[in-house]
Amino acid sequence: VGLFLSDQQIKKVSASHVEGAAKVGQAAVLGAGIMGGGIAYQSAVKGTPILMKDINEQAIQTGLDEASRLLSGQVERGRMDSKKMAASLSRIRPTLSYGDFAEVDLVVEAVVENPKVKGMVLAEVEKQVDKDTILTSNTSTISISRLAESLQRPENFCGMHFFNPVHRMPLVEVIRGEKTSDAAIAATVAYAQKMGKTPIVVNDCPGFLVNRILFPYFGGFAKLLEAGVELARIDKVMERFGWPMGPAYLLDVVGLDTAVHANGVMAEGFPDRMASDNPSAIAKLVEQGRLGQKSGSGFYNYE
Ligand code: NAD
Repeated sequence: VGLFLSDQQIKKVSASHVEGAAKVGQAAVLGAGIMGGGIAYQSAVKGTPILMKDINEQAIQTGLDEASRLLSGQVERGRMDSKKMAASLSRIRPTLSYGDFAEVDLVVEAVVENPKVKGMVLAEVEKQVDKDTILTSNTSTISISRLAESLQRPENFCGMHFFNPVHRMPLVEVIRGEKTSDAAIAATVAYAQKMGKTPIVVNDCPGFLVNRILFPYFGGFAKLLEAGVELARIDKVMERFGWPMGPAYLLDVVGLDTAVHANGVMAEGFPDRMASDNPSAIAKLVEQGRLGQKSGSGFYNYE
């Protein structure tokens, strides 16, 4: 499987004159969870207005609270004054409807990691936007070509995979599906750059580049737990190794339900290399409602 586009292809898509490549003046994010809130913050702080849509007020509030928390942190550290904070917040427009989506140049879908839900949401949003609007998915693992099957205009669709926490992690994977156009890739690369990120263009496969490495690592961690090794010791060892955090803490940051979904998709895509069942230690915590930091507890307690 070729992961990267050739140098020649990258030059072609990153050229600012790609025919039909839209400039992203107005963005939208679907889902105001951990990732949606972070994406809205990053877009707003770097100057691109963004609509943030979710399915209920409470979820929207979660995303807004996350963006406000990040902005307040910038003010407290003296990196931003309160005027810039207010201007950034005003660029995030929460909504429960698709009312204003006709004006949107690029949509980032960041709802739950479930192919059926994502397919439905993408098909629904496609009906609301202009025919040239670029649709992207922040899926961690699901094939972009497979998600594109739910769309009428698959050429306008690609992956835009941010990492958590969005404001800290520089990399964005831009994923080309079988039918993705150069114009869609170019617009997405340009938007990622405007957000201050480093985009890399990768071909489509379950887990893309980073999660093909990360999920087998989580699997190794789960096997160590099953063998009776204490999780805090594993985390400490990986911190000493030089990683900013160990696997248990990282899974709590990622969200254990998201990780379990993602692991299932990866196992389906690579049955020869990944266990077909979810790592039991992680699945058990999800059954108990311990979803990681977002629910107040996961491997560790946060309340
Ligand atoms: P989350 O559970 O925190 O948030 C998901 C949000 O989607 C919720 O607010 C939910 O109400 C909303 N939602 C569900 N159905 C919807 C619909 N029909 N329309 C609008 N909103 C809807 O999840 P998350 O961790 O933010 O993950 C979102 C996506 O980002 C997933 O695809 C995940 O794989 C991907 N991702 C997650 C991480 C991570 O570390 N958490 C990293 C990279 C990518």
